[in-house]
Amino acid sequence: MTLVHRLRPFTQTIFAEMSALATSTGAINLGQGFPDSDGPPEMLAAARDAISGGFNQYPPGPGLPELRTAIAEARLRNYGQFFDPGNQVLVTTGATEAIAAAVIALCEAGDEVLMLEPFYDSYPAVVAMAGGIARAVPLRPDENGRAGLDLDEFAAAIGPRTRLLILNSPHNPTGAVLTGAELAGIARLCQEHDLIVISDEVYEYLTFDGTTHVPIGTLPGMAERTISISSAGKSFSATGWKIGWACGPAELIAAVRAAKQFLTYVSGGPFQPAVALALRTQEPWARELALELAGKRDRLSAGLRAAGLEVWHPQGTYFVMTDIRPLGETDGLAFCTQLPHRAGVVAIPAQVFYRTPGDWSHLVRFAFCKADAVIDEACERLAAMSR
Ligand SMILES: *Cc1c(COP(=O)(O)O)cnc(C)c1O
Repeated sequence: MTLVHRLRPFTQTIFAEMSALATSTGAINLGQGFPDSDGPPEMLAAARDAISGGFNQYPPGPGLPELRTAIAEARLRNYGQFFDPGNQVLVTTGATEAIAAAVIALCEAGDEVLMLEPFYDSYPAVVAMAGGIARAVPLRPDENGRAGLDLDEFAAAIGPRTRLLILNSPHNPTGAVLTGAELAGIARLCQEHDLIVISDEVYEYLTFDGTTHVPIGTLPGMAERTISISSAGKSFSATGWKIGWACGPAELIAAVRAAKQFLTYVSGGPFQPAVALALRTQEPWARELALELAGKRDRLSAGLRAAGLEVWHPQGTYFVMTDIRPLGETDGLAFCTQLPHRAGVVAIPAQVFYRTPGDWSHLVRFAFCKADAVIDEACERLAAMSR
């Protein structure tokens, strides 16, 4: 084994494995979370125009000024947050790089980084790259299948070496949108313990049933300690473009930029003016996408229930979490490995999103950001399997 010790726990690539299974078996892929239709046509055209218009060299280090201005305007319009596009906004290679650069810039070796679990798989990996120690607090479903946070449990997880919190709401993979009370409790504890918050808000537009996203940076006392992170990939269905951004106080953004400049320097030149246009003119498209996704959530949830699974209730994102125990199954990894062969469907075992996978091995994540016909066919196949 030539890989350094600190990265050895992260070699498992369940997404690649499951996508390969989908390809080799011809199964419907409800594993990886990318939409199967593209973003707004005007945005796509703007990227094509940028390429044919000779906009193909390095953009400015912090991002195209036009995009940074559009980002600052969107944060002000949507959340009342004021960011100076000059030094409080940084364009990154997707949200993934913004998170990585923030952790690398702000986590000293041996610092503890708190996160909600289940977590997005990149969080513990970048904490390990930075020499930090990941600590996790679980979200648990209530009787309605809404995942929520126990604030006492959260408080108990904070220790003397805890420096950062990576918060994610709307939350992948549970679909939870943190409530006002949860956010207020988290904000109070972050101030008490002087934590910096890396707030992963990539699903900010994709909330359902009138639930709205409230950035933790808008709570009293939080603006000065919060980095808010967004993704054009998620907001405008262009996950392959890898355009993200971080907004926050100048000092924190300068730190993130210090790390970012040596990770990628810049990226996505011709996509940046297109994303600027999307932020200025295509927000209604994103809101429409959220409405469509809510319908797809209902469609897939009903199908999964009919197939005998217990289904959580996501209030946002692309994903629904399920419990496979009603099917007489307990091991999500074994279940997901067999599922393409048994039913022609691919899903993701949720244990990859947990530090203590054993306690959660009965959970499986399905993605509903797919065409209705694809969802219906998957549900049909799953129902046939359990008949
Ligand atoms: C997709 C996703 C990201 C990564 O976003 P990119 O812009 O594609 O890098 C980060 N966090 C969460 C929770 C995600 O689901």
